Amino acid sequence: MGTCHLAREPLLRDNFTGLLHLWARPEVLTCTSWGAPIIWDGTFDPDVAQQEAIQQNLTIGLTVFAVGRYLEKYLARFLETAEQHFMVGQRVVYYVFTERPAAVPRLPLGPGRRLRVERVSRQRRWQDVSMERMRTLHAALGGRLGREAHFVFCMDVDQFFSGAFGPETLADSVAQLHAWRYRWPRRLLPYESDPRSAAALAPGEGDFYYHAALFGGRVGALRRLTAHCARGQQQDRARGLEARWHDESHLNKYFWLHKPAKVLSPEFCWCPDIGRRAEIRRPRLLWAPKEYTLVRD
Ligand code: UDP
Ligand code: MN
Repeated sequence: MGTCHLAREPLLRDNFTGLLHLWARPEVLTCTSWGAPIIWDGTFDPDVAQQEAIQQNLTIGLTVFAVGRYLEKYLARFLETAEQHFMVGQRVVYYVFTERPAAVPRLPLGPGRRLRVERVSRQRRWQDVSMERMRTLHAALGGRLGREAHFVFCMDVDQFFSGAFGPETLADSVAQLHAWRYRWPRRLLPYESDPRSAAALAPGEGDFYYHAALFGGRVGALRRLTAHCARGQQQDRARGLEARWHDESHLNKYFWLHKPAKVLSPEFCWCPDIGRRAEIRRPRLLWAPKEYTLVRD
């Protein structure tokens, strides 16, 4: 395994994090083979991360899609809990993408925080809503969102914040370990395996299985990521294919080819149905109960 950049150089500017103690969690993997930190509770100092971020006068974007019944079901709680926990003390701009801007709840926002609503068209199939996000995000990152934010997180709406999610998570590109999959051997990970798909990984390929409910990074890096995934999806569609886990399959392909600069432990996007695990100390985001019969057509 390579050495971790941040273990050698804890205050590396581009991954400024307050990252201090990769050795503080000896029971889990805290560094990837390519030297990126895997952030677990206790491996960073949130106050140092906060100070470093404030000095850089950042604006952090948070994008979320709420199309169809997902809006009423999940959006208010997602935004309310983001106000309590997401990048508190930083400048934040929410981007909500929906086909019904008038139905977006108008929450009181903290100082330095604003919400923008962008209209998107409604796709017939939920899979298409999910995949269409890559193209929409690519365009938004090339427009106002890309001009006003330095870093952006892109998240699913069917979850809510339960603990501090701060600037320790920022880096050039950020990937989330999938809560249900992080303990699985690589050969069992559900990558796309059809070699005709743009998302295909060959046997033996893949580092981790990343969750598409949360990814982020600097605007330029995310422009490249979203372009790659949107192009792959388009290519598959033209061949009459659809990757096994839709946009998530393409995201996993992208991060295999272009390794993330930082990886978030499953504490950052945890599924409560999994039950107690000793290594999951303080979940930051929790999956909302999946009520597909209520929200999907
Ligand atoms: N989404 C939406 N309306 C839909 C389908 C999806 O707004 O009809 C958005 C929403 O943000 C959702 C995300 O796309 O969280 C991904 O879909 P979903 O959460 O159902 O996928 P899963 O997490 O089950 O893979
Ligand atoms: Mn989801």
